[in-house]
Amino acid sequence: ILTINNLTKKFGYLTAVKDLSFTINKGNVYGILGPNGSGKSTTLGIVLNVVNKTSGDFHWFDGNTTTHDALKKVGAIIERPNFYPYMSAYQNLKLVCKIKGVDYSKIDEKLEIVGLMERKDSKFQTYSLGMKQRLAIASALLNDPEILILDEPTNGLDPQGIHQIRSLIKQIASQGTTILLASHLLDEVEKVCTHVVVLRKGEKLYSGRVDEMISSHGYLELKAENTDGL
Ligand code: ATP
Ligand code: MG
Repeated sequence: ILTINNLTKKFGYLTAVKDLSFTINKGNVYGILGPNGSGKSTTLGIVLNVVNKTSGDFHWFDGNTTTHDALKKVGAIIERPNFYPYMSAYQNLKLVCKIKGVDYSKIDEKLEIVGLMERKDSKFQTYSLGMKQRLAIASALLNDPEILILDEPTNGLDPQGIHQIRSLIKQIASQGTTILLASHLLDEVEKVCTHVVVLRKGEKLYSGRVDEMISSHGYLELKAENTDGL
């Protein structure tokens, strides 16, 4: 679905992403794992065309699709969801449908998936943080994307909210949508992802299957330095 080759991003003298290469294949759940400032969001920003790369390459799908066209088949949440507080969830999604040119019939389908059908007529401002995040996911799914990209999807949520979002991501993946998420939590990647790219200061430390990472040499080191549970 996505191929990244020797991607580098510099902000002045700072190299945020350094010579990064990896491939995203259909049907898996990929995690980009790394501490604050390791280049996770920058990497997502580049492939979503909101950050300009310094050098290297990436291409979506078969490589014959322009990034602009490819992004119509991508769903992404890379910042706090922006909905109208005084409008209901349903009304908010109607606006998104208008912008994306999606049929309104998709709204209930997606609200069902994220478990918000019963609250679809409540104003957005009455939603908990977890519900807001689930609404954002419903919104990102409206155009039936082939891949869903999430930057730190459980940040700021309470344990129940975290559990709901992680289950939801696994459920969406089980229905055939490829997922790419960024997280600073090893625990999250272990629970949700099948594959992982570990970043340190913009450089790739490891990439491969999560189960293989767990049995690999550097795993205990990774676990020791991770801030899970703090
Ligand atoms: P976090 O876990 O905090 O979200 P991250 O892994 O997503 O971190 P990035 O946001 O990609 O990290 O940032 C990587 C590095 O690039 C950091 O040192 C950051 O300060 C720097 N950086 C990111 N965006 C900019 C920018 N627009 N201008 C200058 N420096 C930037
Ligand atoms: Mg980030």
